[in-house]
Amino acid sequence: MIRLVLFGRQGAGKGTQASMLSEHYKAPHISTGDMLREAVAEGTAVGTRVRAILDAGELVPDETMLEVIKDRLDHDDVQQHGFLLDGFPRTVGQAKSLLKITVVDLAVDLDVPEGLVLDRISSRRVCQQGHIYTVGDHAAQSGVCPVDGTPVVQRDDDTPDAVTARLDAYKVKTAVAMAYFDSQGLLLTVDGVGDPETVFHRLVSAIDERLDNDARW
Ligand code: AMP
Repeated sequence: MIRLVLFGRQGAGKGTQASMLSEHYKAPHISTGDMLREAVAEGTAVGTRVRAILDAGELVPDETMLEVIKDRLDHDDVQQHGFLLDGFPRTVGQAKSLLKITVVDLAVDLDVPEGLVLDRISSRRVCQQGHIYTVGDHAAQSGVCPVDGTPVVQRDDDTPDAVTARLDAYKVKTAVAMAYFDSQGLLLTVDGVGDPETVFHRLVSAIDERLDNDARW
């Protein structure tokens, strides 16, 4: 089993890489953003509470996020296969709480400069199940996801104001969460620039090498 946290600013390709890594390591991909968007779509109590926060690109309070994540980590698939966390933790409070409720083998920072992510976000399109496309893709142009048949649209929070708010939150809050993992000897930074396959292979070799070394000591 493997317990990984994946950091990366919006548009860094974090969701795509998290899916690929989850398949490779046979560990469930847990995206708190997807879970919250689903809660909003279903109109659950949590969904109603967080809808406006998501649309503004701001962070949901730590207490709500902890409820959501604790509940998810209790499921059997996580107990058996570990996890690949995508989008959690995003604050130092969440990072400290996470390390109190579970072991984390490694936190990976998928590093892509801010200038590059802006273009990617404005051309990003997603389906209701979280499959990610670019504006020129056939799926985006037809508006139907070839994997699950749900509509392919632009995310409500991919507007310029919300994107700026999310990038600011990343710089101000998530950077501190990453520094906390670093202080615990758990952070690995990997260059996230390149096509998805190249970045994926780079990630797997860096993760395997680091975990092998940790196991030897
Ligand atoms: P994402 O899909 O990871 O970009 O997340 C979409 C939105 O969900 C974020 O802009 C936040 O509003 C909210 N969100 C997701 N994960 C967290 C978290 N760990 N802490 C606070 N807010 C979160």
